[in-house]
Amino acid sequence: MAKIFCVANQKGGVGKTTTTVNLAAGLAKVGQRVLMVDLDPQGNATMGSGVDKRAMALSVYDVLLESASVAEAAVFSEKCGYHVLGANRELAGAEVELVEVERRERRLKQALAAVADQYDFVLIDCPPSLSMLTLNGLCSAHGVIVPMQCEYFALEGLTDLVNTIKQVHANLNKDLQIIGLLRVMFDPRITLQQQVSDQLKAHFGDKVFDTVIPRNVRLAEAPSYGLPGVVFDPAARGSQAFVAFAEEMVQRIKKM
Ligand code: ADP
Ligand code: MG
Repeated sequence: MAKIFCVANQKGGVGKTTTTVNLAAGLAKVGQRVLMVDLDPQGNATMGSGVDKRAMALSVYDVLLESASVAEAAVFSEKCGYHVLGANRELAGAEVELVEVERRERRLKQALAAVADQYDFVLIDCPPSLSMLTLNGLCSAHGVIVPMQCEYFALEGLTDLVNTIKQVHANLNKDLQIIGLLRVMFDPRITLQQQVSDQLKAHFGDKVFDTVIPRNVRLAEAPSYGLPGVVFDPAARGSQAFVAFAEEMVQRIKKM
């Protein structure tokens, strides 16, 4: 049965999408069956997985509105080695359309249950908000992966997310836990980043992943080629770090 993870952080530009597509590609590379779900109407994870968001016949929007199954709407990205349940601007409307329906926060969970035996990992890229879309992600997941930059306000931002996860855990999804904090865009030459990293470890202990993702320009360039860095330039330091992170995740789920 698939383990389902949300990549979430209510801040924008912290590396959620980069983490989602590169972890998906890294897991595929080490032999895992992966479904990547894009829950952000911007569709960056979709485009960054080699799938044209404007040309999709069906998307996660159709799945949330129950007009298509995951099996019908997901496509296999040959280049990346994983399945993609894509998103585009249409998804922004789902927020409003879901207001009227029953069990609106459980739509994704129910849809994913039908394909759980076909994957080892389902990774959900969340939008930078705590919206109905993110709530659908959190209700579906066994755990949350939180990418974060080791900056001064990083810890402060974390409090809101931790509280939201606690609430979802208490009211909607007993399975939900923070699997780990992933330090991304890390530059060890910057003293402050090293200090924040140490603080994180002091506060959160083994909730902080061992793997650290360095700041690496190849990871930033890859999306313009419609690929995760891991596929675009496997030799890049950032790509190698994401493959190491994939291996760490494979080990982590054995303990779940
Ligand atoms: P989010 O999904 O949280 O908004 P993104 O993954 O889109 O964040 O990342 C924000 C920006 O930072 C993007 O331009 C991305 O290419 C860049 N970026 C992310 N991770 C790295 C990294 N490790 N090194 C260099 N650039 C990165
Ligand atoms: Mg994003």
